[in-house]
Amino acid sequence: MIYLDAAATGPVRREVLEAMWPYLAGEFGNASSHHELGARARDGLEAARAEVADVLGCRPSEVTFTSGGTEADNLAVKGIALGQRTARRPGLPVPDRVAVSAIEHPAVLESARALARLHGMWVDEVPVDGTGRVAPEALAAVVRPETALVSVMYANNEVGTVQPVRELVAAAHAAGVPFHTDAVQAAGWLPLAVRELGVDALSVSGHKIGAPKGVGALYVAGRLTLEPVLDGGGQERGQRSGTENVAGAVALATALRLAEAERTTAAARLASLRDAFVERVLELVPDALVTGHPTERLPGSASFCFPRVSGESVLLELERRGVVCSSGSACAAGSSDPSHVLLAMGIEPEVAQTAVRFTLPPSITADDLGQAAEALGEAYAAVTGIARR
Ligand code: PLP
Repeated sequence: MIYLDAAATGPVRREVLEAMWPYLAGEFGNASSHHELGARARDGLEAARAEVADVLGCRPSEVTFTSGGTEADNLAVKGIALGQRTARRPGLPVPDRVAVSAIEHPAVLESARALARLHGMWVDEVPVDGTGRVAPEALAAVVRPETALVSVMYANNEVGTVQPVRELVAAAHAAGVPFHTDAVQAAGWLPLAVRELGVDALSVSGHKIGAPKGVGALYVAGRLTLEPVLDGGGQERGQRSGTENVAGAVALATALRLAEAERTTAAARLASLRDAFVERVLELVPDALVTGHPTERLPGSASFCFPRVSGESVLLELERRGVVCSSGSACAAGSSDPSHVLLAMGIEPEVAQTAVRFTLPPSITADDLGQAAEALGEAYAAVTGIARR
């Protein structure tokens, strides 16, 4: 099988398994227990936090471990927006709006909509251009004194487009509004140093970078007030209750450190393999439309619309030929609705239905991609043949 669905998930790295293993077996203590076993688990947890902070360029106290990217995004959007209300100084406008880009992952979009549904807030959706980029001017146009938070993803999971984060941060900060970015797909491929990016909050997830599913982290600048989403025993400095997942935290820290060390070499290698793959696909299917930004996109991302065929039928034909990929995000798999990301980019619904996304794992070879391109050519011919009958 040729796996080209790395944006959905990937395998756990051996080094990560080895680093987390002791905390699943011998060092199984509860990091909040006061005895020796608990203290050793606490040491493992805090070492992991320091390692994550080192990659993000922040203080360890600004890192909160979560159950994944979804929870990190929920905590950022709901926690900061509500925290802004809690921290509001008398006389200042009530922060009752959040601004999110139109192409966010549902973890951000639905968190914003929940703030509207449950807390009477307003959601401003910031449009994107045809390549999936948010223009700083478009953001500046919606940000107001009442905006509690801006959330714009670092890189998109469907088309791979990378946002001009620093410029967007400047637009939000000019209005005094904090900025969160979902870096779940960016991790491992783009620099994550939060001070250089200027962001006030940033989410990452373990299973996209070689750690297991079910662990993530959120950086939040220490000066911000964060209302917890999960209430309970007050772990993670009261920001995220629940017995700490020490093995998961160690796994995330190890995966993040390795990904950061390999990042520039891995990104350059993958981008050149991806470019050759896209070129070959366009030779085989000349009327394919490449979606996303032509240059500002993730190195492993190649997404297309194949006009006049359904993306799902191309996927089926590809899988019969041993190539697995997806029509968009894994969360929307099985849904017959066209992708909100492609629609926001101005792609017609009938064309958006034809989307196929290839996301390359770091271990992919030129040979695998050559075979995948040929399989795609055959799959497309098979589907259009069926469609003509
Ligand atoms: N944000 C983005 C951009 C993603 O691609 C994903 C997962 O696909 C998530 C958030 C959710 O992360 P998790 O699967 O760890 O909950």
